[in-house]
Amino acid sequence: MASGVGRRPRGNLVPLAALISREMRNEKMEKPTVRHGYAAQSRKGEDYFLIKTDCQRVPGNSSSTYSVFAIFDGHNGNAAAIFTRENLLNHVLGALPRGLGWEEWLQALPRALVAGFVKTDKEFQSRGETSGTTATFVIVDGWTVTVASVGDTRCILDAQGGAISTLTVDHRLEENMEEYVRERVTASGGEVGRLSIVGGAEIGPLRCWPGGLCLSRSIGDMDVGEFIVPIPYVKQVKLSNAGGRLIIASDGIWDALSSEMAAKHCRGLPAELAARQVVKEALRTRGLKDDTTCIVVDIIPPENSTQPSTPPKKQNKLRTLLFRKKSHDSSNKLSKKLSAVGIVEELFEEGSAMLAERLGNDDSNMHSASGLFTCAVCQVDLAPSEGISVHAGGIFSTSSKPWQGPFLCSDCRNKKDAMEGKRSSGVKVA
Ligand SMILES: [Zn+2]
Repeated sequence: MASGVGRRPRGNLVPLAALISREMRNEKMEKPTVRHGYAAQSRKGEDYFLIKTDCQRVPGNSSSTYSVFAIFDGHNGNAAAIFTRENLLNHVLGALPRGLGWEEWLQALPRALVAGFVKTDKEFQSRGETSGTTATFVIVDGWTVTVASVGDTRCILDAQGGAISTLTVDHRLEENMEEYVRERVTASGGEVGRLSIVGGAEIGPLRCWPGGLCLSRSIGDMDVGEFIVPIPYVKQVKLSNAGGRLIIASDGIWDALSSEMAAKHCRGLPAELAARQVVKEALRTRGLKDDTTCIVVDIIPPENSTQPSTPPKKQNKLRTLLFRKKSHDSSNKLSKKLSAVGIVEELFEEGSAMLAERLGNDDSNMHSASGLFTCAVCQVDLAPSEGISVHAGGIFSTSSKPWQGPFLCSDCRNKKDAMEGKRSSGVKVA
């Protein structure tokens, strides 16, 4: 799964020499060392993971290396978890325009992650299998960490200095009844409620019926309904050059340990031992009730770093503002909110379940080499009469232009309607 495989050339290509010279300039900001550890105890055999530390933004240029860490916690079988592990990374990379510099690449990630998650879900569902999976997918590139997730596989950040923050939200109906979930479910003929037992008593967490899934987002789950959407919550942060530790783990850990407990139990240990310690502590607390998987990623300042531990404040702020200004379009309300969690810089955050909001109005980079429009989700070429704007007919169509991109193929348009709880009409707008 080398980066770049399966990607078609598109518009605005930048010559390789120019890209490499940009990379050289970026190298002046020293990159951290990334170390990782993994540990797991299986009960049902439905947790899968992906660790890939040799991805390259510019193929052949080792200074453009980044890492991917992911956990997929399957349910009703392992097919969706396996399929997602095999395909999600390629689908995300396939949705990234080519020829981007480092910063542009990082800025393009949130949207590519949304497209990649939806494409993976759509492809898996077309296979007619019934299982589902959570997916928490983490890209570590230099000091920047980008996390996309559906379901309840959590990723926390233990920043140097002791501030613990969560980079995911738990998409569980019980703890996090999202906007529109009940509406989406009811509109599609389903129900949200607890399990009823004899005598009428209700037990257990809130679930979607039919199916009984207690998640509001996942990949797969065709049998539950398409209102269980694969659109990920995405958060992108930049660590200070003091570094930090990520702990990514399936609910087998989080049902036993709080984020604080997990972070504190493994502080001071190298990543490999830390992952083992977290799993051990979860098992000690709760026993082996579920698959229990943990990846620890340490982002460590370069050893010979002579940089001060914090860069001059003014310069840092200015860079951040410039970086923000050109990065995101107006539809991302949260992303505009520039905030700093301790010394960690928050670059992007968006959790909307509406595809139109997530794909935005940006219509650059949509042409393939052949000059045709491409579908913003599955990247297929669209015939001139075929493209349907992501905004057409949607609840945001009043504030957007239905003839503007990004465009979807008719399959992905149907998928979008189904995710919003609408029955597909089969009527093409364009
Ligand atoms: Zn499509």
